[in-house]
Amino acid sequence: MRISVIGTGYLGATHAAGMAELGFEVLGVDNNPAKAAALSAGRVPFHEPGLPELLAGHVRSGRLRFGTSLVAAARFADVHFLCVGTPPGPQGAADLSQLYAALEGLVPHLTRNCLIVGKSTVPVGTAEALTTRIAELAPPGISVDLAWNPEFLREGHAVHDTLSPNRLVFGVTTPDAEWALREVYATPIAAGSPVVITNLPTAELIKVSANAFLATKISFINAMAELCELTGADVTLLADALGHDDRIGRKFLGAGLGYGGGCLPKDVRALIARAGELGAAETVDFLRDIDTINLRRRERVVRETLDLLHANGSHRVGILGIAFKPLSDDVRDSPALDVAIRLQAAGVQVTAFDPAATAPARAVAPQLIYAATAAAALHEADVVLHLTEWSEFRDLDPAFLRTVARGRTLIDARNALDPEPWLAAGWDFRALGRLVESRNPVERPVSRTSAPSEALRPGLLRNVRRTPEAPAALTDSALNRLRARVRRSA
Ligand code: NAD
Repeated sequence: MRISVIGTGYLGATHAAGMAELGFEVLGVDNNPAKAAALSAGRVPFHEPGLPELLAGHVRSGRLRFGTSLVAAARFADVHFLCVGTPPGPQGAADLSQLYAALEGLVPHLTRNCLIVGKSTVPVGTAEALTTRIAELAPPGISVDLAWNPEFLREGHAVHDTLSPNRLVFGVTTPDAEWALREVYATPIAAGSPVVITNLPTAELIKVSANAFLATKISFINAMAELCELTGADVTLLADALGHDDRIGRKFLGAGLGYGGGCLPKDVRALIARAGELGAAETVDFLRDIDTINLRRRERVVRETLDLLHANGSHRVGILGIAFKPLSDDVRDSPALDVAIRLQAAGVQVTAFDPAATAPARAVAPQLIYAATAAAALHEADVVLHLTEWSEFRDLDPAFLRTVARGRTLIDARNALDPEPWLAAGWDFRALGRLVESRNPVERPVSRTSAPSEALRPGLLRNVRRTPEAPAALTDSALNRLRARVRRSA
């Protein structure tokens, strides 16, 4: 069995290398000649741990090739994976033009019966429409089957997720399609990856509903973070406590700057748009709130930063992290980049450092200043923002950075740094929805927005102890009262 992978971006390049690793001869096709040339030379044009080694090895062995010709793919493969982009259109609905263009370039040139497998994330109903188009385009006498096999890989863990998927979903209309997919994925299936066999619309909907659910979980905890900020509660402890309930789980309960990237925001909005087309807008009305809560977190950090700068008459911000998440250089709908761009547009001098995303960020936001190191980004900064939780930022030396920055306020917008060493070094450490014990209480700037009483004022920093001091020992009478209370509540 020979495989083509059409569209070799984040998903397709990884999938092509993964298919080669599973033992197949693979041809990757991309209509971007520069991308195809880089991949042909064994170079991965984006940051993905483990992929450069895997891809280069299979390019060297000759099992994996890349090019720009869909005609070559049509002649080469028995199974064609569609991995092109489905970006958002102007109203949020998915733009399917790359899928149609790929089919129009491929199907008329097919020379034998084959299976086309969609991996791109699409609105429910897309595969049915593509089936009609394929029938119009297929040469006489050539039978073309279409299946949908949505992809769940996580950028930053893409190689692992491709070779050991936590589930495989096959949307199929024929037994032949199912058996071809079982052959393709024989190795992970033998290793225990569960397989869900279903029809085309269910397969399409599984993917978008998975992303909508993850987005909902993140916005839920961020809504709780907003309440925590108003009441002096601590969202990280709240999330820990929720997570101990295995019906809920701790994953995706990281309160902070919210979700971003090339998938979750666009998939949520595309689902809202698709539900509207189906006459069921109210069914997913809650997703609008999910999106709104998510965007509000960015706004919150921008507002707090501007308040701080205005209060001190200062104007320089140093930013740690610009990718939409760590282990990736993807800046598509990155909350960090969005915050940086908005601050710069408000007249702030923004200098950013990211371990991997400088080049892609510079391509879309050349107006920002990019530093080569974290220390250089913080040079003479009045306020420091931690916006993407790369693990290396946890190893920074706060004492040294105090000598580099001009101001001493750091906002950990990812709730990922340990406050202790920063506080010990004299930083005014602030977090989102989280209690931070400050050894150096500082005068907080007056918020330009509505200001309720001091005790309930929304704020990023609360000089409150994380946990109350434990009494040295319980007296007998206190112990008895406690036992009585426990008995009553049981
Ligand atoms: P991407 O933009 O990085 O890659 C798409 C690639 O397709 C580009 O290299 C583009 O040049 C190429 N392309 C476009 N039209 C083409 C054509 N007619 N012929 C050949 N190549 C063409 O996008 P991506 O992040 O890889 O995502 C692709 C799809 O996979 C999307 O639907 C996305 O939602 C889905 N997905 C992505 C991820 C992820 O983590 N990136 C995970 C799961 C699903």
